[in-house]
Amino acid sequence: NLKQVPHDKNKKNLIILGSGWSSISLLKNLDTTLYNVTIVSPRDFFLFTPLLPSVPTGTLDLNSITEPLQQIIKRTKGQVNYIEAEATNIDPVLKKISLKSVSVNSSNNTSEKDENENESETIIKNYDLNYDVLVVGVGAKVNTFGIPGVQKYACYLKEASDSSKIRKNILKTIEAASILPKDDPERERLLSMVIVGGGPTGVEFAGELHDYIHDDLKKWMPQIADEIKVTVIEALPNILNMFDKKLIDYAEHILIDETSINLQTKTLVQNVDQSNVYAKLVTDKNNINENQNQNQIIKIPYGVLVWATGNGQREITNNLIQAIPSQNNSKRGLLVDDCLNVIGANDIFAFGDCTFTNYAPTAQVAYQQGIYLADHLKSLAKIDILNEKLSDLNILKQKNLPETNINYNKEIKTLSKKLINYQNSLHGFTYHHMGSLAYIGSDKAIADLSWKDWQTISTGGIMTFVFWRTAYVSMCLSMRNKVLVCLDWFKVGLFGRDLNPRD
Ligand code: FAD
Ligand code: NAD
Repeated sequence: NLKQVPHDKNKKNLIILGSGWSSISLLKNLDTTLYNVTIVSPRDFFLFTPLLPSVPTGTLDLNSITEPLQQIIKRTKGQVNYIEAEATNIDPVLKKISLKSVSVNSSNNTSEKDENENESETIIKNYDLNYDVLVVGVGAKVNTFGIPGVQKYACYLKEASDSSKIRKNILKTIEAASILPKDDPERERLLSMVIVGGGPTGVEFAGELHDYIHDDLKKWMPQIADEIKVTVIEALPNILNMFDKKLIDYAEHILIDETSINLQTKTLVQNVDQSNVYAKLVTDKNNINENQNQNQIIKIPYGVLVWATGNGQREITNNLIQAIPSQNNSKRGLLVDDCLNVIGANDIFAFGDCTFTNYAPTAQVAYQQGIYLADHLKSLAKIDILNEKLSDLNILKQKNLPETNINYNKEIKTLSKKLINYQNSLHGFTYHHMGSLAYIGSDKAIADLSWKDWQTISTGGIMTFVFWRTAYVSMCLSMRNKVLVCLDWFKVGLFGRDLNPRD
């Protein structure tokens, strides 16, 4: 069952998997006239993840940080086909990918008898697609480390749909708690909002949650707002470990003293049930006093649980790793060389969070890799074109047709020179770190900024918050996103946040 896509016989079929930071950066920068380009992703929009923690609490509208894929495609130079599907398998030998597309066909039943009934049918289609060149940018999923109960009871903060799930959970628990008497332990449990993972995702969300409770909920339900307890649980001794130590101290001070977020560090969550998380206190073996139990397990009740413990690889990535012996069963992602070629495979490139490299899995890295690969693929396409032209010229030269007045030697020399230039221009990816930014709540942010290789600045506070907002708006991919994000901030400044879901 082979799907046909619009096809120019003279160009290679380039398939790009994913519509996230890496793939969209590639698409925006690629000369799409050089390949038959097809993009495959279950998500028909780009999601600006750095601002996703602002969505569940209503600071930003989800629509403001998404960009329809068709809008991006419209701006490319050549034709690009989009298939809304998930890649389920990659065959690196037959150069074939298997796809699964899921659609819901809902038909209104208009007969008098079933007047109000809607019938919907889920249609699953499986098909294969051949590629000449494949680019894998499928990102990562949230790592649960196989901890029991996480998948069943916790919310994540990774995809667009996660934000509305968290928002609905917050509202549901607040409503349920508000009808219980003040001294009811169930009320206390419901108003306990627990975030597991003190990385930037967990901390930024905790900051946003604090802002919602203190800036908005306090006006409408002051008693409930005062009773809500936000806890961030982190296994390591500190949160935000990729930042400078000074900024970690500053962020911890703001969280504990200014926002009253409960920071529970050195606490490793091991189990989750529908009302509690169970965690082991990680004690320093050399510094344990007689009264401390090294394996002490504590129970933390929760009403809302958000799980943000970092990245794990998707099934499609793990399957590809298994299919290529040189990948050595890599557990942390696809191994790639300097030019982003998947090691041990032909004509497969990979970038972003599905790879394991020296760089952190960030949007910044993924975006720069996309720009690099666009340039690299352009050079490879030009090299192919020149090689083909040279071989045609050599054939004509051998035939030595009398009626043509082409100077074959001169033509071949010029094209060979061009070919060498393109070949010499091929180079590996180099990353330029611009710094890291994180919002920590109460209109404060932290920033570790770098200029070239020699200067770094670590700063935190309200001015950094202004810088954080300016930087993220400027990073939004379209003018539409930039304007909508600014309007949302303006609206929240004037009228407060609106958490009531109408979807
Ligand atoms: P993604 O952007 O995740 O895109 C993956 C794409 O692949 C998606 O379109 C998905 O639908 C698609 N896909 C998934 N499975 C399949 C499949 N089987 N077949 C086809 N397509 C598939 N980084 C920063 O640098 N700065 C920040 O401030 C920052 N903030 C963040 C905040 C949050 C809440 C999160 C979750 C992450 C944040 N990051 C940040 C990290 C950043 O988002 C990732 O590093 C980046 O998204 C990686 O890009 P990617 O293209 O590899 O994957
Ligand atoms: P992370 O990997 O940065 O942090 C996860 C944290 O969870 C770690 O500190 C880890 O010690 C902790 N943890 C893991 N298991 C635990 C357990 N069982 N109990 C308690 N704690 C546990 O993950 P993230 O915050 O989701 O970020 C993922 C990637 O996205 C990172 O590369 C990050 O740099 C990037 N990101 C960047 C930004 C930013 O720059 N502002 C924002 C969000 C994400």
